[in-house]
Amino acid sequence: MNKGKLIVISGPSGIGKGTVCKELIQKDDSVMLSVSWTTREKRKGEEEGVTYFFRSEEEFDRMIESGGFLEYAGIYGGRYGTPRDYVRRCMDEGKNVILEIETQGAMNVMRQEEDVCSIYLLPPSMSELRSRLVGRGREGYEKAMERFRCAYREIDLARDYRYVIVNEKLEDTVGSIMEILHGAYRNPENLEQIIQTLKEEEL
Ligand code: 5GP
Repeated sequence: MNKGKLIVISGPSGIGKGTVCKELIQKDDSVMLSVSWTTREKRKGEEEGVTYFFRSEEEFDRMIESGGFLEYAGIYGGRYGTPRDYVRRCMDEGKNVILEIETQGAMNVMRQEEDVCSIYLLPPSMSELRSRLVGRGREGYEKAMERFRCAYREIDLARDYRYVIVNEKLEDTVGSIMEILHGAYRNPENLEQIIQTLKEEEL
């Protein structure tokens, strides 16, 4: 059996990574999502072992000490990590495993692993991203705006990913990721200009 691929998907908070991943898993049963460990509080509607494995700071420290994480990072006051053995096992079983993780962890994975399908999702515009972040009402206005300011700094890192997709329409984005998995996707030719336009957008 062929070993599965490791797919890293990042993008600014509010871009809709979760929705894209869910849709992708439904479309292609060779694809699965790795469930991370986190020390952050469980939100309404989230399920242990489905959204995350919710763990104490001490349990998280022990996992770090035992080398159990493929990568881990701290963001927005919580810590998040990818369990190494689980991901390896699934890839050995031929599954294409998605890590939906932030940029610092993604860079660590790219440094350690060969042949990572790294994908960065860009918003069509910054104003749309801001509306989505504030509009979903998940974390309150101040926290949403803090995430938005992080997004501004973060999108420069898109250049460090192998593939970049502008997430306009869900089905197009999912289609592009399927193309990536089959080696048929090409990055936008005007990627540099797309990033510049986002950075210079008047808000
Ligand atoms: P949230 O708290 O909104 O679920 O996630 C916050 C951020 O943590 C998101 O950008 C998400 O991609 C990232 N994240 C989730 N799991 C992991 C992980 O295992 N490792 C890293 N580095 N980031 C993660």
